[in-house]
Amino acid sequence: MNVKQTMVGLVPYQPGKPIEDVKRELGLDEVVKLASNENPYGFSPEVKKVLQDSLENLAIYPDGYARELREGVAKHLGVKEKQLIFGNGSDEVILLLCRSLLTEKDNIVTATPTFSQYSHNAVIEGAKIHEVPLVDGVHDLEAMLEAIDEHTKIVFVCNPNNPSGTYVGEEEFLSFLKKVPDNVLVVSDEAYFEYVAAEDYPVTIPLLKDYSNLMILRTFSKAYGLASLRVGYGVGNEQFIQALDPGRGPFNTNTIGQIAAFEALSDQQFITECYEKNRVEMERFEAFCEKKGYKYYPSQANFILIDLQRPGGEVFQKLLEKGFITRNGEALGFPTCIRITLGTKEQNERIIDVLSNLS
Ligand SMILES: *Cc1c(COP(=O)(O)O)cnc(C)c1O
Repeated sequence: MNVKQTMVGLVPYQPGKPIEDVKRELGLDEVVKLASNENPYGFSPEVKKVLQDSLENLAIYPDGYARELREGVAKHLGVKEKQLIFGNGSDEVILLLCRSLLTEKDNIVTATPTFSQYSHNAVIEGAKIHEVPLVDGVHDLEAMLEAIDEHTKIVFVCNPNNPSGTYVGEEEFLSFLKKVPDNVLVVSDEAYFEYVAAEDYPVTIPLLKDYSNLMILRTFSKAYGLASLRVGYGVGNEQFIQALDPGRGPFNTNTIGQIAAFEALSDQQFITECYEKNRVEMERFEAFCEKKGYKYYPSQANFILIDLQRPGGEVFQKLLEKGFITRNGEALGFPTCIRITLGTKEQNERIIDVLSNLS
């Protein structure tokens, strides 16, 4: 049996190493995963209270429309319910966009390095990828604009960008959006939205009124701490979202995920606390880098990309042996860097201690 030609040679998504694998391989009792930008503080305690209820109906298919969650998110964002599409993680919304918009005649424009799933899914659809290098870790929107041609269907702007944590400011994003042809979809992937501190970060939701070709992606996997339940969503123009909907799997988000996400959304106090702790911990890493003279990319997210001026794999391995799973920059397009998800104060102090004593 053969798969379609576009999939030949494609490698599956390379996730951060699982904790149990590392414990077994290295004979370690304690391993901390700071690799996949999960929330080190878990999720809202309010979610735990409703999880028991969500277990009552496991024999019944979930609500494919995710009505309650949809109402909650629509209210939270101030958009219409019909402007939302939910996915099994925002990963699935990316897949759905590529599936729905791309053929082998088309192309997408993305930055490089950026989140791998944009090009991965576009490649499977047979589309071409116009990659535009980051400039000092930041999207080069002018060059991305120039990379758009008559076959471009989607431009992905990962903001803040994974893996660099850098962001595109409001003015720049707006002037970009104004110039993109209105038959090209601009996807603003805001997976780390809740962590952003920069005052000039684009406020994109109100722009949906004027730009029918704008789509915003958000997720419950990062700050909301529900990565394993797989709930993400897209917000866009109502007609466009409704046109996408038939491409979605009938029950793509599950009951537990919907109930947990709804509850998590209503506990904004938890999100604020996580945001504040994350900023304190970010300053800890920045101070460390400055003290050691290491270049780092200023991050608006919950991870930091540090250039240790030696092969990322080497540092990755040393940290692994000390019980810390991070991301090797070699696999992320930054060969002399590692990407570290910010952990708790105690975890961060320990990993910084290991990094300080690298031989
Ligand atoms: C983590 C991440 C996602 C995917 O999150 P889901 O768990 O699928 O919701 C999407 N985009 C970026 C940039 C991410 O870092």
